[in-house]
Amino acid sequence: MSHEGIRIMTKEQEAHEADAHRPLPRIAVTPAKVRVLLTEGKGLEIDWADGHKSAWSFAWLRDGCPCATCNEERNQQGRKPGQPKAKSATLLPMYTPPPRPSSAHPVGRYALQFNWQDGHSGGIYSWDYLRRSCQCAECKFAA
Ligand SMILES: [Zn+2]
Repeated sequence: MSHEGIRIMTKEQEAHEADAHRPLPRIAVTPAKVRVLLTEGKGLEIDWADGHKSAWSFAWLRDGCPCATCNEERNQQGRKPGQPKAKSATLLPMYTPPPRPSSAHPVGRYALQFNWQDGHSGGIYSWDYLRRSCQCAECKFAA
């Protein structure tokens, strides 16, 4: 028996949801340049064919891992992709080093995959997903 909750959405949420599934123009999801700043530990930078530039920190990418397991975990915790886990309430939280991949590989012509130092590697970051998660002020404001 399924216990799937009924989602009640406002008109705005509905419009936003519809927007999120609208296909993006091809040049908006075609990377012209992809830079994975592994040695600097900085993150990922993509220059898109339509001239837009995007950048993500590795922390954002790890917390935004699009694999089924991470998606489920985020849904359960009510987190958005890229939103860090809530800090535990202990007095002396354990130091956790910022997430970093040990390597990154293209997946076909449509995505990027990271081998995270914590051993996780299930997430396939499609260009479409990345473009929709662009962290620039303009895109975040529009979202
Ligand atoms: Zn994952």
